[in-house]
Amino acid sequence: MSKPSLIAIDGPAAAGKTTLAHQVAERLGYLYFDTGVMYRAVTLAALERGIDISDEAAISALAEQVEIDVRPPTVDDGRTSTVYLDGEDVTNRLFSAAVDASVSAVSAYPGVRAAMTRQQRRIGERGQVVMVGRDIGTVVFPDADLKIYLDASVETRARRRWQDYQAKGQDGSYEDILASMRQRDRIDSQREIAPLRPARDAIVIDTTNMDAGAVLEYVLKIVESRDCDRVASSREAEGDD
Ligand code: C5P
Repeated sequence: MSKPSLIAIDGPAAAGKTTLAHQVAERLGYLYFDTGVMYRAVTLAALERGIDISDEAAISALAEQVEIDVRPPTVDDGRTSTVYLDGEDVTNRLFSAAVDASVSAVSAYPGVRAAMTRQQRRIGERGQVVMVGRDIGTVVFPDADLKIYLDASVETRARRRWQDYQAKGQDGSYEDILASMRQRDRIDSQREIAPLRPARDAIVIDTTNMDAGAVLEYVLKIVESRDCDRVASSREAEGDD
């Protein structure tokens, strides 16, 4: 019996994916890889270079040009990875309200997705990785050994994000965060390419009434009990995913 080597964790913003994935990776000694930071890095590059977010051709070209590197944390400030954009550590600029407001538009462009998906596959193919995103189980790795889809009500997610902001001394009212999250959910789940939705063979966990510790224990039990040799041979293809 062998443990899942590639674990996909998808779901909407603030469902608890980052915390869960980071802890699962730590327990298993796997690489933690949050793909959202790549879309955020392209968005940050566009905003800082004054490129119009609605200019699909320019944003797609930018996604092909920029070099994004995601590494284990280099600073002990609560970050779960350090993100380099053309060699510069931009981690602390990726989670601003401005990036939040534009990232879903940027990540709906097919050219951007193609560039990011290519890089994500290159990293995931090495195995022993917990990869977090919106489309990992459906598009990036439809053959992932284990797929988890975390969900929670939008109000719960907005409240969690607001509490994070408060803890970090960042500005932002609950109402503004809720509105921005609703908008992102809508764009992410309605886009034509790689929309946000659970893969057919994903295990869906609603974390609305669960704390992070309970979610972690539940997922670790699934990891321990899953026989990947057997799953791989009996899995159905994802079809048009
Ligand atoms: O996970 P996070 O909230 O940081 O992701 C930011 C945005 O990046 C999402 O709202 C979504 O638009 C996009 N994204 C995506 N596909 C992924 C990861 C993130 O489209 N695999």
